[in-house]
Amino acid sequence: MIILKDIKKSFNKSQVLRGINLKINRGEVVTILGPSGSGKTTLLRCLNFLERPEAGIVQIGNIQLNAKNATKKDMLSVRKQSAMVFQHYNLFAHKTVVENVMEGLVVAKKVKKKDARMISEKVLEKVGLSDKLHFYPSQLSGGQQQRVGIARALALNPEVILFDEPTSALDPELVGEVLSVIKEIAQEGITMVVVTHEMSFAKEVSDRVLFMDGGVIVEEGTPWEIFHAPKEERTRRFLQRIS
Ligand code: ADP
Repeated sequence: MIILKDIKKSFNKSQVLRGINLKINRGEVVTILGPSGSGKTTLLRCLNFLERPEAGIVQIGNIQLNAKNATKKDMLSVRKQSAMVFQHYNLFAHKTVVENVMEGLVVAKKVKKKDARMISEKVLEKVGLSDKLHFYPSQLSGGQQQRVGIARALALNPEVILFDEPTSALDPELVGEVLSVIKEIAQEGITMVVVTHEMSFAKEVSDRVLFMDGGVIVEEGTPWEIFHAPKEERTRRFLQRIS
């Protein structure tokens, strides 16, 4: 469903992605682990052309783009195939919870307001926020704000949801509620790519785990293979350091 071929990306002459090849099947949950600065977020952002790779091919669903000659319109059409959940939620402060979720539907997808409201209320129920529809983000806990972020992604009904360290800005006691919402969605068969530092989540929920270091995928495998029988020394050292 998603294919990346030889994706390369540099910032100021420093190469952050050094040729990423990856295939993700429909319904698969893939987590990406790796030390800070290894290129995990950049990979997610290249996947939906929030960053333009300088070389490589991205295919999501039936849209395929070559980074070298993709037009703005092409990039927008790839972006519409995915939805992103950000580390810092990125909600509109002056909009209520339900308005935040409706925004993408009305503006990007041109859904009628009445329908957008109905869809939004439904996904907000799914993330357990039916009683907060008319609250503003500042009136919510971090965990609740992130659940709005997840509802917003779900509402768009994308081919894939990209999670960029969705719990790393949260106080420890709020991490669980967000992870359990993500886990529930995963069980519904939505394709997901999750950059995370939460090892137990990666173990429990992923179909496949990727370990990145220095701008490459060093190793990939099932959670069991990565956590119990890593083949690469770099993976072993990383797992020892964080356990
Ligand atoms: P990770 O998510 O694994 O921590 P990132 O993809 O965020 O890694 O970053 C990889 C490297 O790319 C880092 O050295 C970071 O400083 C650099 N980088 C990321 N985004 C930018 C940017 N917009 N401009 C310049 N450098 C960037």
